[in-house]
Parts: sequence; C-alpha cells; structure tokens
Amino acid sequence: QLNERESMYLVSNFAKDYFHNLMLNTNQGKAIGLSYFKERGFTDETIQKFDLGYCLDEWDNFTKAALEKGYDLKYLASTGLSIVKENRQFDRFKGRVMFPIHSMSGRILGFGGRILKVDKKAAKYLNSPESDIYHKSKILYGIYQAKKEIAKQDNCFLVEGYTDVISFNQSGVENVVASSGTALTSDQIRLVNRLTKNITVLFDGDAAGIRASIRGIDLILEQGMNVKVVQFPDGEDPDSFAKAHSKTELKEFLETAAQDFINFKVSLLLKDSNNDPIKKATVIREIVASISKIPDSIQREVYVQECSRIMEISERVLFSELAQILKKDA
Ligand code: ATP
Ligand code: MN
Ligand code: MN
Ligand code: MN
Repeated sequence: QLNERESMYLVSNFAKDYFHNLMLNTNQGKAIGLSYFKERGFTDETIQKFDLGYCLDEWDNFTKAALEKGYDLKYLASTGLSIVKENRQFDRFKGRVMFPIHSMSGRILGFGGRILKVDKKAAKYLNSPESDIYHKSKILYGIYQAKKEIAKQDNCFLVEGYTDVISFNQSGVENVVASSGTALTSDQIRLVNRLTKNITVLFDGDAAGIRASIRGIDLILEQGMNVKVVQFPDGEDPDSFAKAHSKTELKEFLETAAQDFINFKVSLLLKDSNNDPIKKATVIREIVASISKIPDSIQREVYVQECSRIMEISERVLFSELAQILKKDA
C-alpha cells in the first residue's frame, strides 16, 4: 500500500519523464522547447543532466496523458501539476520549459517552469505550490547534481537562479546550487552544511540582490560556516557571465573576486556612510552584529582584529560592543 506522499513522488517522476521525452521526441517539443534551450546555449548533455523538458501550450495535454496512464487526479492536484476547476483540469505549466527540482537523493519534488518570452502578462517563472513533498524553503535547486562536487571541492557556490546553476555546470563549475527566488533559509544552509563548511555567495550585479543576501549571510555564520561573496559586474548574473567568458576566465574570476564577508560588508556599508561619524558608528554595530552570530570564539576574535584594521577603530571598542551584543542574546 503506497502512502500519499509516495503517490505524489510517482506522479512527479512521471511528469519529469513526460516533459523531457516530449521535448526531445516530438516535433513541437523540438521546435519550441528544445530550440529555446539550444538558443540559450545548453548542450544535450546538460539537458540530460538536469532532466529539462517542455510542457505543450495546450490546456491539458499533460494531465490527459497522466490520467490515461492511470495516475490519480487527486495527486495531480496535490502536487499542483494540474489545476482542477469545476470538473475540468488544466496543466499548470502549459507552454513553459521545465526545470525539475530534485531532492538530495534525486527524487522529483516539484518544478520550475519558465515562460518562453518574457512579457507583463505572466510571471517569468512559475513554481510548484507548497505541498506535502515540496517545501521551497527546505530545498536548494541543483543539490542532487552538485553534492559530490561540493564535498570534493569542499566549497559550495550559491546563486539565485536555475539557469545560473545550469550554465556553471556547463562551464565546469559543478559545486553550485540556487535558492531559486526565495530568501535563503537556515534549512537550506543545513543541506549544504552536511557537505562542506564553506559557502561562496554569488550576487546578481544589482543592489536589490545584495541587500537581500546580507541577511542570508548572517544565517550562514550562525551555523559556524565560512562565507565568501562574489559580486558580478552591473547587469550580469552568473549565467550571463559564464556565457560571455571561457571556462578558465570564469574560474579565475571566481577566485580573484571572492571576498571575505567582513571585507565585503564593511566596504558595502562604508560606501553608504560617506565618512559621516554617526553613520560609521551604525556600520560598526552592524558588522559586530554579524560577527556575534559566529559560534566559535576564536573565529570571532580573528574577525574583530580584521574589522579593527579595516575600519581603523580599536579592537577594545569592538570587543566591548561584541560583549554587549552577546550578553543581550544570552
Ligand atoms: P533567466 O536567466 O531565465 O531570465 P534568472 O534565473 O536570471 O532567469 P532572475 O530574474 O535573476 O531570473 O531570478 C532568479 C530566480 O528567482 C529565478 O531563477 C527563479 O527561480 C526566481 N524567479 C524569478 N522570477 C520569478 C517569478 N516571477 N516568480 C517566481 N520565481 C521567480
Ligand atoms: Mn534523458
Ligand atoms: Mn538572474
Ligand atoms: Mn539570467
């Protein structure tokens, strides 16, 4: 007797194969879905590795196929693959290219679907709804494909989007995962923490991305992990950068642009403070607040020394500020 979640996994796996095979083996799939990925420069090998697919731009092509195969409408609905309305059912992802989301062990939990041409009428990406098998705050896109390489490299690159993960893989950087449009959570960081203590956070080159990621960095520090950050040039994301550069250039950039989080946060905040002493004091408090998240006292001390050097402020003042924060949190 299969339980409900097992049934949801089964229909999700069917969907993954259906969208993938439809894209590779039908005229429409090839003309629309496959050409889209080819135009983005994705190779056959990449398309296989990430099980990419396409959902036809018809109302219920996928849902009908699943029902014919004997899958229960109940699970098509609970996984969100089908939208059920007044005795009719529709494909949620109609007309979208499909990115299956794998668990750490390779089960299909949900999907991201991208519209082919971005316009104002529909969201660029549509994701599976929260369900008994898909919790977006607990999974990282690409973790299944990346886990071996994360352990081997003893580092994990964290990017924003599906295509960033995929492009990096094609450029030979395989230790990469994406939070896929949600703010980073402690559960997501815990997945990586099982494989390495080192995370490198990569920001799209826009201000919004940077601000949002600052909070995520504190969550990484709280788990005793080491954080580096790489900021891409304005208007670039990891995907566009990887496409515009050779494998060697990409790896060189990742090595040389990686900044320790303290240096990064200091320079970011100092830029806003324009040497105004009041603002500078706020900056110092924010930095020390980040340092206070680090569980290891020796590591905290190293950061205080570093911060003192960069900010040109005595270690004594920083330590006393740190002590106050730690006392408050205790
Ligand atoms: P692409 O290169 O395909 O245009 P991207 O990955 O660069 O996409 P961003 O706009 O940088 O897209 O967004 C980063 C991630 O945020 C996406 O990969 C997706 O997971 C998520 N996302 C973006 N737009 C939406 C949306 N409208 N609804 C839900 N999630 C979204
Ligand atoms: Mn295949
Ligand atoms: Mn992007
Ligand atoms: Mn992009």
